[in-house]
Amino acid sequence: MNLILMGLPGAGKGTQAEKIVEKYQIPHISTGDMFRLAIKEGTELGTKAKSFMDQGELVPDEVTIGIVRERLSKDDCEKGFLLDGFPRTIAQAKALDDLLMDMSKSLDYVLHVDVPMEQLVERLTGRRICPTCGATYHNEFNPPEQEGVCDKDGSALIQRKDDQPETVSKRLEVNLEQTQPMLDYYRDKGYLVSINGSQEIDKVFQDIDDKLGDLV
Ligand SMILES: [Zn+2]
Repeated sequence: MNLILMGLPGAGKGTQAEKIVEKYQIPHISTGDMFRLAIKEGTELGTKAKSFMDQGELVPDEVTIGIVRERLSKDDCEKGFLLDGFPRTIAQAKALDDLLMDMSKSLDYVLHVDVPMEQLVERLTGRRICPTCGATYHNEFNPPEQEGVCDKDGSALIQRKDDQPETVSKRLEVNLEQTQPMLDYYRDKGYLVSINGSQEIDKVFQDIDDKLGDLV
């Protein structure tokens, strides 16, 4: 079960990743975790990646791909893997194709948790924070007892600048611009599975699960 998981911020990708990993017992491999592990283990590539990151530079593709190779070669990936946050570009996607072929593996599905833009904006702008105790709320998913007021200390809740509609929309647009070519790439190759992410969390997972059922 070799999978890639894609979705814009707010689409609920992380929640679905947890559910997939729990049910199918495959490792969830995010780019950040992969880099951290390579650096912690002190592999040659990990050390290289760290030197770029320490200088605030992007890690070059050949280093990143090497780290992906190291990670996918580990025993826990024998039954499969769930890649999250990689590949990010068409060049990386092509390199991953070559890498998998070289390892006699192949992709099964690229799962895209699809949520309309307006709905993502609604989800991502709903967060409210207590300036006093730092508690976070969400207008829709985790509302305080009294609108706009912290349950714990009665402070007036605020919206962070990052969560304001303009900032959120801009962030989503940039993200979509980066994601769209990959979706097209994997659609053309026949790997893309679009999952309706507007539904209840459990229903979203059920749709994913139905699709993954083909593989077991
Ligand atoms: Zn508070």
